[in-house]
Amino acid sequence: MEKLLQGQVAFMTGAGSGIGKAAALKLAENGAKVALVDLHKENIEEVKSQIEKSGSEALVLEANVSSPKEVENSYKQLMHHWGRVDLVFANAGINGVVTPIEDLDPKEWELTLSNNLTSTFLTVKYAIPHMKANGGSIIITSSINGNRVYRNIGMSAYSTSKIGQMGFGKMAALELAEYQIRVNMICPGAIETNISENTWKEKDNLKKVEIPIQYPEGNQPLEHRAGRPEQVADLILFLASSQSSHITGSEIYIDGAESLL
Ligand code: NAD
Repeated sequence: MEKLLQGQVAFMTGAGSGIGKAAALKLAENGAKVALVDLHKENIEEVKSQIEKSGSEALVLEANVSSPKEVENSYKQLMHHWGRVDLVFANAGINGVVTPIEDLDPKEWELTLSNNLTSTFLTVKYAIPHMKANGGSIIITSSINGNRVYRNIGMSAYSTSKIGQMGFGKMAALELAEYQIRVNMICPGAIETNISENTWKEKDNLKKVEIPIQYPEGNQPLEHRAGRPEQVADLILFLASSQSSHITGSEIYIDGAESLL
């Protein structure tokens, strides 16, 4: 039986860890060839070998997705290898420095914005010339933060980048509709990944602006735990496939109702 994404090619950023890794494995399992884009080559090498063991194809593209040259060049390498792009997952991101606005260095603000928001613009921009002829699906990883949730004090740069992705994604959905390119956003709540490695928090600084909020019975109404990357990967498969063919410019929350509290 033909697989759901048979013959399609995906460009996936942040594919070395967490949500990006789980999504790459899921799309590959469903027939897509996947280009794995990440800062950390050893991690995407590992994902590639997992994919190849299960009989699918993957390509390692080490790149910093906040660099225009590196993103453009990654697409060139992919085109050279497979000659087409159908699916794009603009997912790479960091939490960055978590601190009061007063203490946030402009360089730290810029780092979060360039890793999360500028990278999304670049990942979409450089895909367009290659997707125009055949159409396809672009999925952007935003967050509950910046869209529904503002209680994570100290995350002003992160939340700004995440609501920025929402505005950009909706503009892109409208602009790219004539090429049959769909653009959708996902808004995860807490998911068990390695993002804490890219979270720089100074607890003492935060104390001066913190607003105490308590959830005596936890803040995960549905499953009483954080989500798993594999659960997010199922959503990516749906948005990548023709099962979501009339959905564009939409956001989907995947948070077990955490953001409604
Ligand atoms: P993760 O740290 O496990 O994976 C992120 C990957 O992105 C890493 O492999 C990292 O090397 C890569 N990356 C970061 N900056 C990069 C850059 N400039 N160029 C290339 N690669 C880069 O984290 P994750 O939780 O899987 O994060 C994926 C996305 O999900 C992020 O956009 C994050 O903001 C979003 N998100 C995560 C959560 C959560 O709770 N984990 C919640 C909401 C949204």
